Amino acid sequence: MYCNYCGKVIQDDANLCAYCGKRVGAVVARKRLVRPRVGRKIAGVCLGFSEFFDIDVVLVRVIWLIVAVATGGMGALAYVIAWIVMPEEPRALPAAAPVGERVASS
Ligand SMILES: [Zn+2]
Repeated sequence: MYCNYCGKVIQDDANLCAYCGKRVGAVVARKRLVRPRVGRKIAGVCLGFSEFFDIDVVLVRVIWLIVAVATGGMGALAYVIAWIVMPEEPRALPAAAPVGERVASS
């Protein structure tokens, strides 16, 4: 498959792009609007939107910032609301952890 961000060919089962380091596997699987734990700048709201709509997180942040400035702070309020209502990404998926490691840690 191809990386959504840099366009390079990567492993089909890869979760991270080996070239640009962006998460790719998780993006495809993501169906819910959540705040990812990895890669967030503040609360992960923009990152969550970028993964949900499959667009660049930088673009989301820029758009959000423009809207925030243009609306005189409403964007900032929207961010706080999104922060509150958007669930945090669940910790590591059960399938992602090796069985032996899970036994050892529990
Ligand atoms: Zn990439």
